[in-house]
Order: sequence, then structure tokens, then C-alpha cells
Amino acid sequence: MNSRREFLQKLTGSALALSVLPGTVSAISKEFTEMPYDGPVLRVAIMGLGSYGTRVAEAMRDCKKAKLVGVISGTPAKIKNWQGTYNIPEKNCYNYENFDRIKDNPDIDAVYVITPNALHHDEVIRVAQAGKQVICEKPMALNAKEGEEMIAACKKANVKLLVGYRMHFEPHTLEVIRMRKADEFGKIMFFQGLCGFDIGDPTQWRLNKKLSGGGSLMDIGIYAINGSRYMVGENPIWVTAEETKTDPVRFKEGVDETIQFQFGFPSGAVASCLSTYAMNNLDRFFLNGTKGFAELMPSTNYGPIRGHTNKGEIDQPTVTHQTVQMEEMSDILLRGKQPVVPVDGEEALKDLKIIDAIYLAASTGKKVDLNL
Ligand code: NDP
Repeated sequence: MNSRREFLQKLTGSALALSVLPGTVSAISKEFTEMPYDGPVLRVAIMGLGSYGTRVAEAMRDCKKAKLVGVISGTPAKIKNWQGTYNIPEKNCYNYENFDRIKDNPDIDAVYVITPNALHHDEVIRVAQAGKQVICEKPMALNAKEGEEMIAACKKANVKLLVGYRMHFEPHTLEVIRMRKADEFGKIMFFQGLCGFDIGDPTQWRLNKKLSGGGSLMDIGIYAINGSRYMVGENPIWVTAEETKTDPVRFKEGVDETIQFQFGFPSGAVASCLSTYAMNNLDRFFLNGTKGFAELMPSTNYGPIRGHTNKGEIDQPTVTHQTVQMEEMSDILLRGKQPVVPVDGEEALKDLKIIDAIYLAASTGKKVDLNL
């Protein structure tokens, strides 16, 4: 093989720069990790050193195009610990009070915001004002109004805003999208997205509306919302929704336990989805057209993602989502690459508008029209 790029193009036409789980296709992994890379590297600071921030940092160890170089945290002990683990210099460490100073740090290109949902709005705007590229976790904000303000702030500061939609780079997912675009399923008629887990600990921020902005829909249901759009290949024009609550003690007012929602698309296709904090192992996408179907199960967890269609198994490599995501985001931010499914603020804003509409439909019992 002449070059790393040729190797990766041969490996897959869709998800470049794979990080392969140990034991899956280890020969590919070895060849990939040993290949030299001399292109630009995105230097990233992570804000919020919690559970998902830690996962991203670990996954970035295998990146060639992105590197963890800084941290922003409210917990000094974590900063110390991460400095040791990831070799982060003192000058690249910040807290929530002083991180605007990152403006004067030429060694950081981008900040990845991985804090509770309600904090994203202000933090993203501050990062943008400091002139750094922004990656923000999902949901990008609590509602569409906040999302619009964040997009405007990034535009004004001339920085890009990306959102951590890791499934947009996942090979099984991309293969279903490729097949749908190639008309292999015929005219798409139906999508079903089921997303849920048992939330556990009642004291966590995810069950505190002030920090989460809602319940299961903000956290896990968003995968079915976003997934219905990239699976069907259209944006919904109407929404209906129904909320059910079996445990009003754990799920307070404004924190949804279970929501079912339905979409109608311009082509006439429909979607039926369920989002819940009350059931484990609910993780399935099903797409049906006039000629065939695709099923992904699990469809959005950390993997391995598995899938099949009416033609058989989907034969794609198992990857570490966050490694591939950060490799691809480096290409988007540093080289202007266009991903197959967008991951920018405008894409996330569509999901926020749909979330607003689902909550409105659930509270009024009425069908809500959408114009995305
Ligand atoms: P955690 O609670 O594990 O971590 C959040 C971190 O944010 C904390 O550890 C803390 O870090 C910081 N923080 C700042 N202010 C607060 C506050 N008031 N309360 C609690 N934490 C605070 O959450 P997750 O890492 O699971 O989730 C963070 C974000 O990532 C959410 O938006 C979530 O939706 C998203 N996420 C995305 C996933 C994906 O697959 N794309 C998966 C999981 C989460 P510090 O001490 O360093 O300040």
C-alpha cells in the first residue's frame, strides 16, 4: 500500500480513519496505527471532565488528526489527574471563571463542550467569543431559541460550531444511508426509532430540569429524532406526541420518563418513535421501503453496532465512535471537509426545533406543523 489515504479508501468508502476495537479486525488496526500522518492536527481542549468527557479523551489517544492538549474544569483534582494522564501543560488548564483567557492561547484550536445540557448555551458563546472553534455535545441546547443564539454568536466570531453526533460517522449507519440513496430499499415509507435505558440514580443532573432541560427526550430520544432524519433522508413536516409517566416521584414535572412521537415527511413517509428512561436495552432503528428494509440493533450505543437488510448482514468494521468522530471533525474544521450527514449547528438546530414541537404536541395533544 502506498499511502495511508489509499489504504483507508480501500478499506471503506465512507468512514475514513478507523479505530478498530481490539480483537475485531486487528490486522487492519495494526496497519492503520502504524501508518505515518504528517497533515494538520486539531488541538482540542475538553470542557467538563465527566463520564463522557473521559470517554472522548480516551478515544482521542488513537487519533492522528486530533490531539487533546487542554482542559477546562471546575474540579482542581481532576485537572491535576488529567495533566498527568494526558501530559497537559499547566498553561492549557482553565476553570469556568477564567476560560475566556483561552483567547490568548495560540496552542489550542478548538474547545469540546461536554457539560450538562443547560450550560452549553453560555459556554459555547463564550468559547466563540474567545475565537476558538467549538464542538458541543448533544443536545446542543435546551431549545431552538438558544440554538439560534449560539449559531449567531459563532457566525459573528467567525468560528465553526459542530455537534457531537458520533453516529454520523459510524460505518453501519453510513452503509444504510448509502443503500437508501442508491434506491436499494425503494421508496421509503416507514421508520421506527426506539431509544431508551433505565436512568438509575435519581439525584443526577439528567433528572434535574434546570440542568437537563427535560428528560429522556433531550438525552436519548434525540437519537431517534436525528436518526429518523438521516435514515429517511428528509425533514419532518408534522409531529404528534404522547407522554406517559409510571414513576412521578423519580420523574418530576417537566422531566419526561417516556414519550412516543410520530413524524410525517414531505414524501408521505411516516416515523414512529419511542424515547424512555424506564427500560434498558431499547436501541433499535428500522427503515422500510417499497423494495426492502434495514434494521440496526443496537443502533446508537457505543457498539459494536450491528445491522442487516433484506439482502443480508451489513458487513462493516466495528469502530470506536469517538475516535472516528474526532478524526473526521479535524478534517471538517481544518480542511473544510463536507461530511455525508452534516454535524454543524444548523443540523442540531433542526433537532431542537423538533424537540420543541414534540413537547408542545405532548402537552397540547395537538398535531404540530414544522417548517425546517
Ligand atoms: P457527567 O455528569 O458525567 O459530566 C459532566 C461534567 O460537567 C462534570 O463532571 C463536571 O466536570 C462538569 N460540570 C460543570 N458544571 C456542572 C454541574 N452544575 N453539574 C454537573 N456537572 C457539571 O455528564 P456526561 O459526561 O454524561 O454528559 C455531559 C454531556 O455529554 C451532556 O450534554 C450529555 O448529553 C452528553 N453526552 C453525550 C454522549 C454521546 O454519546 N454523544 C454520551 C453521554 C453524554 P468538571 O468537574 O470537570 O467541571
